[in-house]
Amino acid sequence: MADTDVIVVGGGPAGLSAALFASKNGLDAVAFDTDKTWMHKAHLFNYLGIRSMDGDVFLDRAREQATADHGVTLHEETEVTAIEQDADGFVVTADGEDHTAAYLVLATGANRDLAEELGCAFTDEDVVDVDVTMETSVADAYATGAMVRAEEWQAVISAGDGAAAALNILTKEKGEHYHDFDTPADV
Ligand SMILES: Cc1cc2nc3c(=O)[nH]c(=O)nc-3n(C[C@H](O)[C@H](O)[C@H](O)COP(=O)(O)OP(=O)(O)OC[C@H]3O[C@@H](n4cnc5c(N)ncnc54)[C@H](O)[C@@H]3O)c2cc1C
Repeated sequence: MADTDVIVVGGGPAGLSAALFASKNGLDAVAFDTDKTWMHKAHLFNYLGIRSMDGDVFLDRAREQATADHGVTLHEETEVTAIEQDADGFVVTADGEDHTAAYLVLATGANRDLAEELGCAFTDEDVVDVDVTMETSVADAYATGAMVRAEEWQAVISAGDGAAAALNILTKEKGEHYHDFDTPADV
């Protein structure tokens, strides 16, 4: 039995989005991040719904939304150094400790080393090969954001990739297509 449902490696837009969607919809989600996200260099004018926002402000809000609002466990300044697959899912090593999960979401930006070590297939462009749900050639392991594209690197695309991965995991867990639709009367 794994420690948690979903482990996310990376806390940029892709990783935080995946973790948020998973945790908001009832899965235990644990994320690890070394805070080297390109968002520290960005100022957003092109993220739909956000007219102008510094990348650092975006990150603060995204982290708060994922953790305080939706229950993600975020290990900041914590590097994942190894990942293996076993009969129960994935064993992720960080700070010398092993953490286990049924599902894995990789969101490590332009660094694709962990995906390579895990044995994920790569495309001719040397990026991680995924289908439209962001699942890699390794079952139940997903790759999202900059690591699956040679170009077209944009925050909004990474956030969408993370959401797609989490919704596919939720679909597998619930046994039917899962939609995260909120229609509250009071907002
Ligand atoms: C100068 C510059 C300006 C930009 N301006 C814009 C812009 O105006 N608008 C826009 O939409 N996009 C912009 N971008 C692109 C945008 O920043 C990226 O598309 C986006 O950050 C990619 O998100 P991601 O989650 O895929 O990866 P990243 O944001 O790179 O996040 C990956 C995270 O994973 C962590 N990580 C990596 N390996 C490990 C590990 N082993 N263990 C734990 N954590 C790990 C990293 O530290 C990092 O925090 C800009 C990029 C740059 C370089």
